[in-house]
Amino acid sequence: MRLALLENMISLLYPEVCAACGNVLFRQENTICTKCHYLLPKTGYENQVDNPLAQIFFGRVAFHAVTACFFFSKKGKIQHLVHELKYKKNREAGYFLGREMGKILVESPLFNDVDFAIPTPLHPKRQHQRGYNQSEILAQGINQVMHRKISTTHLLRAVNTATQTKKSREERYENMKNTFVLKNATELEGKHVLLVDDVITTGATLEACGKILLEVPNIKVSVAAAACAG
Ligand SMILES: [Zn+2]
Repeated sequence: MRLALLENMISLLYPEVCAACGNVLFRQENTICTKCHYLLPKTGYENQVDNPLAQIFFGRVAFHAVTACFFFSKKGKIQHLVHELKYKKNREAGYFLGREMGKILVESPLFNDVDFAIPTPLHPKRQHQRGYNQSEILAQGINQVMHRKISTTHLLRAVNTATQTKKSREERYENMKNTFVLKNATELEGKHVLLVDDVITTGATLEACGKILLEVPNIKVSVAAAACAG
């Protein structure tokens, strides 16, 4: 009784807020409010082999399937969630997004035979600053639904690339090419590997990751991001 009272007082002082809109959550709501959950802008790309996102990579890297589960718009719900995950140390926002991704991917014939989820690696220094790799949080959320393996030991980031915002796509890719290294590649032979990322913009990082993974014999590589521009 006393503990319940204390919990109530704490929740009055520090109410939990929706990670997508900032409104106070009702007691039965978790991480995001019911309204935001209902209105999340799904892309539907998971069942479309030639969706606009997949087309970014056509002729560059032979991914099996590419999707981002939600549209990202300025000041939108997904931007809010991703911001919480990347800059506010809100892991729950990432687990939530990951689980939503998992529910979508597990229903798609293009993705449901995935063996391994591999989060796009962060440079160790960046990961140390943030405290975690946001893509790994997403992968863990996905796996709460899909129950596959997550690997953070096969694909590693070797070089801390300088900020990319002023560079062209070609320059970004050139800059990225030697950034990643693959370890214990034989364990990935014949597997379907899912690269997990937060937001797809130019695709340069995923292209570099994809190219090195596709050197493994009989591997199938797909991409699932939480979001892309709408
Ligand atoms: Zn909300």
